[in-house]
Amino acid sequence: MKISEILNQGNPTLSFEVFPPKSSDGFENVEKATNAIAALKPDFMSVTYGAGGSTSKFTTEIASNVKKNYGVPALAHLTCVNATKESLDAQLETMKREGIENILALRGDLPQGVEDTSDWVYKHASELVPVIKSHGDFCIGGACYPEKHPEAANMKEDIENLKKKVDAGCEFLTTQMFFDNNIFYNYLYRIREAGIMVPIVAGIMPVTNAKQMERILKLSQAFIPRRFVSLLDKFSDNPAAMRQAGIAYATDQIIDLLANGINGIHIYTMNKPETAAKIQDNLSAIVPSCNKAE
Ligand code: FAD
Repeated sequence: MKISEILNQGNPTLSFEVFPPKSSDGFENVEKATNAIAALKPDFMSVTYGAGGSTSKFTTEIASNVKKNYGVPALAHLTCVNATKESLDAQLETMKREGIENILALRGDLPQGVEDTSDWVYKHASELVPVIKSHGDFCIGGACYPEKHPEAANMKEDIENLKKKVDAGCEFLTTQMFFDNNIFYNYLYRIREAGIMVPIVAGIMPVTNAKQMERILKLSQAFIPRRFVSLLDKFSDNPAAMRQAGIAYATDQIIDLLANGINGIHIYTMNKPETAAKIQDNLSAIVPSCNKAE
């Protein structure tokens, strides 16, 4: 099923992101975790691509497994960083053959130390969108950044670039994680004002340990509200308490979003079935798909 159809139904939806292993050695563990998450029957699952050095073939394999064996609509991520026309053609044909219907079109992060991208074939995700379209009737999504993409000079410019991506054919957008809903509401206002009207799926990261937060700050430069800092100060030395507090904070964020009419919620699960299950449990009377688990 196409993600655009799911989102356009207008019901609250809960979806989960998983990531593939870096090498075949880790495949079994990741498969076990992604199967357990798929068994929760979320509205859809997304599988990242190449992030952190994972091998691209596993993205298609995991997405296809989730769809075929669990009936969960799958969203395969695809990046164009360093890609050639031939490499993208091959990847997209494999995805099509494996029954993938939904692709998140991404540029990908610049490899460390790379600043000059002038010799790249594809410099922006918006250039990947027509390549995907040329391979079939995929539903295409893209990424957006409530706190601005780190490389963009300012928010206005970033939103203008986002509009190009949507005009190229992105049918929905998933946000980078954020920890302050007011930042998201302001952003939503600005992108709607810029004429970007596709569904926006809010990306939420349940922070279940303090180390994870250090990594997040390094990668995403997200603003951490005082309320969240207090929680880290108090519980970061107690893993069980930190997990409970992190999931409660994420749940609170989600409920506020749903109460304010934001229907699409995407959880960065970090391949942790117990986190996904707990969030689902916390939303069981609010989000219809949270009662479908096997
Ligand atoms: P783009 O949309 O191309 O934007 C990148 C920068 O270029 C922005 O600053 C933008 O303003 C600017 N820009 C865009 N278009 C133009 C234009 N036409 N002219 C001038 N400037 C322009 N990374 C992975 O490697 N694998 C994944 O699976 C993955 N999944 C992700 C999922 C989500 C929901 C998010 C939010 C991010 C994900 N990322 C992933 C990280 C992403 O690849 C990086 O954030 C990357 O730096 C930007 O990707 P993008 O697709 O947003 O790029």
